[in-house]
Amino acid sequence: MSQVKIGLEIHAQITELESKLFCSCRGNYRDQRPNTNICETCCGLPGTLPIINKKAIEYSAMTSVALGCSVPDKIIFYRKNYFYPDLPKNFQITQYNVYGFSSIGIGGSFELDDSRKIRISRIQLEEDPGRIAYLEGGTNARNSALIDYNRAGVALIEIVTEPDFTNPKEVRLFLNKLSLTLEHLAVCDTLLEGSVRCDVNVSMNGGNKVEIKNINSFKEVERAINYEITRQTNMYKRSIKIVSETRHWDDRKKITFMSRSKEAEHDYRYFPEPDIPMIVLGDKFIANIRNHMPELPNQRFDRFVSGYKLSEHASNILINDKKLADFFESILKLYFSPVEIANFLITDFKSMILDDAESTGYLKNMKVKPEHIAELVKMIAADEISRITAKDILVKIFESGMLPSEIVNDSNSLKIADEKILMDAVESVFNTEKSAVEDARTNHEAINFLLGKVMKYTSGRADPKIAMRLINNKLKKPNA
Ligand SMILES: [Zn+2]
Repeated sequence: MSQVKIGLEIHAQITELESKLFCSCRGNYRDQRPNTNICETCCGLPGTLPIINKKAIEYSAMTSVALGCSVPDKIIFYRKNYFYPDLPKNFQITQYNVYGFSSIGIGGSFELDDSRKIRISRIQLEEDPGRIAYLEGGTNARNSALIDYNRAGVALIEIVTEPDFTNPKEVRLFLNKLSLTLEHLAVCDTLLEGSVRCDVNVSMNGGNKVEIKNINSFKEVERAINYEITRQTNMYKRSIKIVSETRHWDDRKKITFMSRSKEAEHDYRYFPEPDIPMIVLGDKFIANIRNHMPELPNQRFDRFVSGYKLSEHASNILINDKKLADFFESILKLYFSPVEIANFLITDFKSMILDDAESTGYLKNMKVKPEHIAELVKMIAADEISRITAKDILVKIFESGMLPSEIVNDSNSLKIADEKILMDAVESVFNTEKSAVEDARTNHEAINFLLGKVMKYTSGRADPKIAMRLINNKLKKPNA
């Protein structure tokens, strides 16, 4: 078995920011006409000066603390020089670890769920380049591309790991947990298209490192790594030397292809950015960040288990979907019954939204609000409706946005507790299911089958407790 080493460079946009990193153009460039969210500064016109966004420093320091990194007392910025059409200034303002200075975070570690630790080498704050839209044929074809600078200058947090991953599955676990953490920090809405991008380094048997650039989704990251491991394994088998290079992932053809030989660090001619003076963060700033950290996923998990008495299973499902966990807690404010509400959300509710779950903002655009679920679970707890009826009502809420009580009044779907009506149902089932009735006299388990038939007969509206009593009573009579 070959030895595989994988390292990641993750670029997460600070989507919470109102403005770009060094100018007052809007941070949210999405849904705007190309090249309208730009100014002299983010386009790098002569005579302009960058002004740092203070909030971006706070968010990146917070992220550094959350990933176990230390935050230095002073930071400076660097120019990374390279020529590429998406870079209007021909350099990117970023951070670099030299001359006794470090980026905003260094030397952290992040625990995977199986408690394996991945070392974080550094976290740096930098600006996003513009966006290149390739026309038909993809990046491989030699035809035209369009450039949109709306994104140029948006604040990015770059998270660089050590090459501690040994397989694509670990990478997926890490990325999932990282994006959950970024969401809990309210730094990045990871569901927004292109808000988290990933570069991957893969090396095998101590050989040269191959970098795969700019993969847009986590699923594709796993695929690209798998492809690259297979490609390099095949080259080893044929004794072909692996060269250090940068490759691109073609997510239509599902292959990596060579784009350029990899630059060495000196090719970038890093030098301190002369237009931004050294920024002294100071002990007070760092202490303040540490004392006001938002609740992180692990802490939330502990609170759900010990505070709300939820099972670890239920807590995990909720917390792995931050929007669902927030939804859960806003229902609790209206009706405090954590176990019942969690149970309803992770079963009936989640199964209904499953198809939709990966689409952006599924809870934001939904007609179902916390008050709907609070009322619905309350009705189940008060035995006013059965769980089956509750599911039907939920479907109607999804469609109409009406409150459960309104739907019940409309459709008369209340649970049937009337013994006369229920007895009719039981009689009818006993008449049609004669062999099951005989079976149920000796085999206790078969009674559930009869109960199921009664529920079906009443379209799920029978009160199961009363129906069960009636069935048992009837079984005791010899001529039933
Ligand atoms: Zn601008």
